[in-house]
Amino acid sequence: MANQTAAIHEQIGHRLRESGLTYTTGRRQLVDLLLKHGRPVSMPELLKARTRLTQSSMYRNLADLERVGIIHRVAGSDDHARYELDEALIGHHHHLICDKCGSIDDFEVTPATERALDKALRSAAKSSRFSLTSHRLDAIGLCVSCR
Ligand SMILES: [Zn+2]
Ligand SMILES: [Zn+2]
Repeated sequence: MANQTAAIHEQIGHRLRESGLTYTTGRRQLVDLLLKHGRPVSMPELLKARTRLTQSSMYRNLADLERVGIIHRVAGSDDHARYELDEALIGHHHHLICDKCGSIDDFEVTPATERALDKALRSAAKSSRFSLTSHRLDAIGLCVSCR
C-alpha cells in the first residue's frame, strides 16, 4: 500500500503541474485523508481529522482538486457533499449508500460481474443508440449500524 500511495501522489503531482498548480502540503494532506478513509468522506469528517488546514483553505483546496478532476463529489442520500479520489487513481468500484445515516462505503464486484454488468447495460443502451463508455452503480440500503 505504501508503494501504491507513493504512485498515487506522483500521478496527482503530475496532473496538478499539467494544470499549472503545485502539489502543496495542504493538498497532499487532503489526499492522504481521502486515502486513509478509503471511502467517500464528508466535510465534517475532514474537519474532524484536525489537520493544520483551516476550513476555508480546506474548501479552497478541495475545489482546486475537484476542478482538475483529481477528486469528485459523490451523491449520497443526504445533503452532505462527500469527496473521493478519481477512479483513475484508486480503481473502479461501486458504492453502498445508507438511506438512514447517509454513510457511503466502497465495494467491488468480481471482474466477471463487471463484464456481465457492462454487457447488460450496453444492450439496454443500444435501443437509445447510446454508446456506453462506463457505468456507476450504487446500492442503497441500511448500513450495519442502522439495521
Ligand atoms: Zn447508516
Ligand atoms: Zn462496475
